[in-house]
Amino acid sequence: MDHIENDKQFQGLRVNKGTSEQPSVNPYLNNFKKFKRKSYTVSEYVEGIRKGNISILGQAVTLIESSNPDHYPIAQEVIEKCLPYTGDSVRIGITGVPGAGKSTSIDSFGMHILKGNNKLAVLAIDPSSEVTKGSILGDKTRMERLSTEKNAFIRPSPSAGSLGGVARKTRETIILCEAAGFNRIIVETVGVGQSETAVHSMVDFFLLIQLAGTGDELQGIKRGIMEMADGIVINKADGNNIDKAKLAQSHFKNALHLFPLPDSGWSPKVLTYSGYYEIGIAEVWDMIEEYITFVKNNGYFEYRRNEQAKYWMYESINEQLKSNFYNNPKIQQELKSLEQQILSSQISSFAAANKVLDIYLKH
Ligand code: GDP
Repeated sequence: MDHIENDKQFQGLRVNKGTSEQPSVNPYLNNFKKFKRKSYTVSEYVEGIRKGNISILGQAVTLIESSNPDHYPIAQEVIEKCLPYTGDSVRIGITGVPGAGKSTSIDSFGMHILKGNNKLAVLAIDPSSEVTKGSILGDKTRMERLSTEKNAFIRPSPSAGSLGGVARKTRETIILCEAAGFNRIIVETVGVGQSETAVHSMVDFFLLIQLAGTGDELQGIKRGIMEMADGIVINKADGNNIDKAKLAQSHFKNALHLFPLPDSGWSPKVLTYSGYYEIGIAEVWDMIEEYITFVKNNGYFEYRRNEQAKYWMYESINEQLKSNFYNNPKIQQELKSLEQQILSSQISSFAAANKVLDIYLKH
């Protein structure tokens, strides 16, 4: 008798019909190909921006932020063509440490600004975003009301590159926003590091948001930042924090007396407000308007903008020279070998620098 295990029903190895290999791209996505972003010509970009088309404006900003060298000349041409339509705006820089209430305040200031029939763009310079990747500043979710307003354009910080590069991109974005009819621009930054100087170099009014602390709030604020401020505002002046805020206000006022009068001829004011409860918002905005009228009358407004334009020319030269130098393959190779020679004490740092610069200049 045949052994029972040889019976068909006990066959161990049975090859099941397998499934075919899945395609690596979901074929469903093919249906969406037609929605792929259209790329525009320079004049289409400019026309779209001039008409206030937010989607085209957003794409043009992406072009500015792009690290693809092919995008650079297109972006520059768009900027150049938008330039004649810019300038008629008020640019405000806002700084404060994380938690000072920048986004809450910008949401409230913004809603107030929009009541005046204005169009507001909120941009940001966040030098840390290169590390953290996700840009925190200028994030739409942090400005809940503004983000649903059609007359508000919110753009987080460009995240690639050096602070200089990031700042240049934001400055160029201002130009496009203004050409698109945004007449109020807020540039936000965190109150740490060098980014305030960059923001200061592109705005008409620089607002420093402070919190009332334990009475020693003046410590830890860099003198340079206070000197840059055209206005200091103490946030969270609400509930049982009002007295502390008033105290901080008088500390700041006293401290400002010790500084020489700024070139603008305007003595910076110190106000208290609450961004969250919307107390004193109009007063902060009135102060900014008052400043703008003041400096427009005494000529400082135009002077500052001209100085900034010159500054940005030099910044742009510096940045382009640097990137041209460091992206040159011959230079990259030479630098590698010089590094080794420095480490093995065959050449001094200075001689190495001269050598590589010579190669570059004779190139
Ligand atoms: P940012 O990091 O400077 O942008 O600060 P946020 O706007 O995110 O605010 C930080 C925290 O402070 C949040 O929990 C806010 O709700 C709170 N906050 C902001 N403004 C005020 C204010 O005017 N009063 C009070 N009591 N809290 C506030």
